[in-house]
Amino acid sequence: MSVKKAKKSAIQLIKGMKDILPDDQQYWQWLRDRVDNFAKNYGFGRLDTPIVEFTPLFKRSVGEDTDIVSKEMYSFVTEGGDKLSLRPENTAGVVRAYIEHGMVNLPQPVKLFYIGQQFRHDKPQAGRYRQFWQFGFEAIGETDPVIDAQMVIISHNFLKGLGLDVEVQINSVGDANCRPQYLKALKGYYQNHRKELCSDCQDRFNKNTLRLLDCKNAKCQELANSAPQMVDHLCESCKEHFMGVLEYLDELDIAYNLNAKIVRGLDYYTKTAWEIVETSEAGKLQSLGGGGRYDDLVETLGGRPTPAVGFAIGLERVILKLQENKITPPASKPLEVFVAQLGLEARKKSMSLFEDLRREGFQVAEAMSKKGLKDQLELASKKGVRYVVILGQKEIADGTVLIRDMESCVQEVVDFRKIKLELRKRLDSESVRLIKVKKKAQ
Ligand code: AMP
Repeated sequence: MSVKKAKKSAIQLIKGMKDILPDDQQYWQWLRDRVDNFAKNYGFGRLDTPIVEFTPLFKRSVGEDTDIVSKEMYSFVTEGGDKLSLRPENTAGVVRAYIEHGMVNLPQPVKLFYIGQQFRHDKPQAGRYRQFWQFGFEAIGETDPVIDAQMVIISHNFLKGLGLDVEVQINSVGDANCRPQYLKALKGYYQNHRKELCSDCQDRFNKNTLRLLDCKNAKCQELANSAPQMVDHLCESCKEHFMGVLEYLDELDIAYNLNAKIVRGLDYYTKTAWEIVETSEAGKLQSLGGGGRYDDLVETLGGRPTPAVGFAIGLERVILKLQENKITPPASKPLEVFVAQLGLEARKKSMSLFEDLRREGFQVAEAMSKKGLKDQLELASKKGVRYVVILGQKEIADGTVLIRDMESCVQEVVDFRKIKLELRKRLDSESVRLIKVKKKAQ
């Protein structure tokens, strides 16, 4: 849509936030429908949690020393003294709701999905916003690696099926049993390279050593390449679990890369961790989504010890990639009829005709505010509508309407009472013709 932008003095959009304009909505609708469809097929029920939660929910789950909580959260204190935050991610809210609604008493695993806005006060850039949409699937109450593999497969197939070139990068981050020894080895390694780290990583060294591995700074990346790897320090049960996940992925022919640097930016992950990256542009890997197991989170938030695994995919980033790769949403049902009117009386009558056609299931369009027929026909043509019903003073007096075929420009007078029948006849023969053309082309 090309429209003249407002003057600078007008109040503008908040930095890092985004309006979703009508032209882009077809992508959003496509993805929402696809999420619903996947959820139905794999048996996930929708859960909507509030956008604001008590701040300690995120501090305890995502982790106080993570970038997300320590630098990027929109937090505030209400007049009543409550400490609240806009959610930076949705898993914590889902787990809170799982505990609060006693879902532990349901048959496990409880399979839930969400779709909604998240907020992170991050540095805005292409594909990185301060308000963005994620959808996520969570399976709570099962340890079996088959669930991890299934979640990897769902996240992979969701993106692959859109026509994007994606690949799974997977790792295991161990658990409370084996991670402390690994962190010791990692710290030992970085101790000798401390001065070479970027300033953010200097800070992370003590607070969040694991995150040294996924810093984007070139020198830090180089250091990370030679760092000790978690997979070499896994305890027996974590190792067995990870092998189990990979075996299922092999079985289903899902291409994955073992990547020791996948640690994810949130503290709650245990065992399996993965990201789905787009690979079509050589050398420019961008994460479209990621997930992992979080076996300790339910307990951390006050529930019974309950294993779980989930993933989240960012919708803006997926749409950006679809547009970059010129992948367009499947065509929705085209508009079939445009109701055009000339004169006050005709406009009144065409308003009720429009409602009548819409209720009968016709894909119908109008421009009641326009007075000239030329303008209305131009609009109908722009919208790709095949038939225009024209109602003027003469037609009202005669009890008729004109049906104009926009392709042949032929106009026919028909009885007003037979209008639906006449339109259906024309539209049906048109769809038969299109089926024949399609068959011939095959
Ligand atoms: P995370 O919750 O950090 O694991 O991110 C999962 C996915 O959410 C990423 O792969 C992105 O697609 C998306 N995402 C995360 N942060 C942002 C952001 N600031 N802006 C847009 N999308 C984001």
